[in-house]
Amino acid sequence: MKSIVEPARETPVIHETDVIVVGSGPGGLAAALAAARVGVRVALIERFGCLGGNITVVGVEGFAWYRHEATVEAGGIGWEFEERAKAMGAAVPESQSLSYELDSEGFKLVADTLAEEAGVHVMMHRQFVAPIMEGARIRGVIVESKAGREAILGRMVIDATGDADVAHRAGAPTVKTPLEEVQAASVMFHLAGVDKAAFLEGVKADPQTYADWSSGEWTVETDGKEDAMYSPFLGKPFERAIREGVIPAHLNTIGGTWGAVHDSGEMTYMNLVHLAGCDGVDPDSLTHFEREGRRQAMQAIAALRAYVPGCEGARLRNFGMSIGIRDSRKIDGVYNMTEVDVRGQARFEDSIGIYPEFIDGYGVLILPTTGRYMQLPLRAILPRGVENLAVAGRAIGGDKLAHAATRNMACCAVVGQGAGVAAALAVKAGCALDAVDVGAVQGELRRQGVRID
Ligand SMILES: Cc1cc2nc3c(=O)[nH]c(=O)nc-3n(C[C@H](O)[C@H](O)[C@H](O)COP(=O)(O)OP(=O)(O)OC[C@H]3O[C@@H](n4cnc5c(N)ncnc54)[C@H](O)[C@@H]3O)c2cc1C
Repeated sequence: MKSIVEPARETPVIHETDVIVVGSGPGGLAAALAAARVGVRVALIERFGCLGGNITVVGVEGFAWYRHEATVEAGGIGWEFEERAKAMGAAVPESQSLSYELDSEGFKLVADTLAEEAGVHVMMHRQFVAPIMEGARIRGVIVESKAGREAILGRMVIDATGDADVAHRAGAPTVKTPLEEVQAASVMFHLAGVDKAAFLEGVKADPQTYADWSSGEWTVETDGKEDAMYSPFLGKPFERAIREGVIPAHLNTIGGTWGAVHDSGEMTYMNLVHLAGCDGVDPDSLTHFEREGRRQAMQAIAALRAYVPGCEGARLRNFGMSIGIRDSRKIDGVYNMTEVDVRGQARFEDSIGIYPEFIDGYGVLILPTTGRYMQLPLRAILPRGVENLAVAGRAIGGDKLAHAATRNMACCAVVGQGAGVAAALAVKAGCALDAVDVGAVQGELRRQGVRID
């Protein structure tokens, strides 16, 4: 490939801090809040103009739709996200569980409030582009923005970009699922103009279950106990739309779940478009699938209007600000979680929190309707080969099925809180991140309301 050589340049250091968090999704936001609550200085860097990651950027509102009576929860900042959203009028009861569905717009204000209360220094509209390294140790990050190229120095860095951007550029080994196996990307959308009463009548008249997920293009393996449970699933309208020529036959991947339906006629978190083969770290692939996803969303809306009671007058309210990526780069961690761990209630000495037995991805759906849960190890957030860097969120070390559990937002928040506390305590102790006192990390996490064991 043709290339050019850029001249060396001097880059201004615009900020110095203790802990730098890059990315503000459930992982990064939790990490920043947790570190700040330990009492160190924290800078939270985000490329967009809002905090919240997939919640606010993509419109993923189902934060804890897995929750049932017997579910054992981690507590901590993930729990707080829901509670604060409820208190600020940014959440409504979720239809299939004992949880609350977050309002993707309202959560922007929730996240602003939480960050401000914790004293986090928020730096939006800045894209991480390169690490600042001293040998194998990370010392900060370079960002680019409307202001040009800027340097930010910190003692510890947490990569919460979702795509392990920092770890990858710092030279840590990372892995990607082969494109033919990668989880589908989605262009999410919200609707206006839905007749709520008529829609819910239709749902009641023909209730769908998790067994219905195994229709059309997909088969989904469950534990059996999930099969007869209610799911807000929409599949039949799209099958009919294909039969009757409303949408083309190759779009048999359209189908999925709806989120919340409001008295105002809005129906949100429409998770219906599934795009196979999207490479979440290739801008050309992202460009192609953003456009293809919008086209498919309009086909989905045509089918909803034609065949779903209450949706006759539905229209597009908005797309998510960005395509939603479920699966991209992950670190090769000091420990990589496995299918056996997530299916088998793994226990670890260096636990930084627990997560109920919720597995959703790669053709598997297991809901935590029992009290089963696993622990998450500190080692899974530490990339190999780079000192003082941790990863928070969906890019932690693990195999495909482990990722089907750990990618979920509430799990990203558990891991993020662990990363934030570990980084902050390493700063306070003046030690390297991988030398932090695990007992002290667990003690602080308990103090912050996290269940460790
Ligand atoms: C369509 C879809 C539906 C889903 N449904 C559910 C669901 O119902 N329940 C559930 O629990 N999970 C769901 N997930 C999974 C979940 O949303 C993600 O796995 C989770 O949000 C990952 O959290 P994160 O903090 O790692 O990253 P993200 O939420 O992706 O946040 C990363 C943040 O980092 C920022 N960023 C990225 N790169 C840079 C950079 N270079 N510089 C600066 N900032 C950067 C981004 O702008 C973003 O704000 C879904 C995912 C998708 C895509």
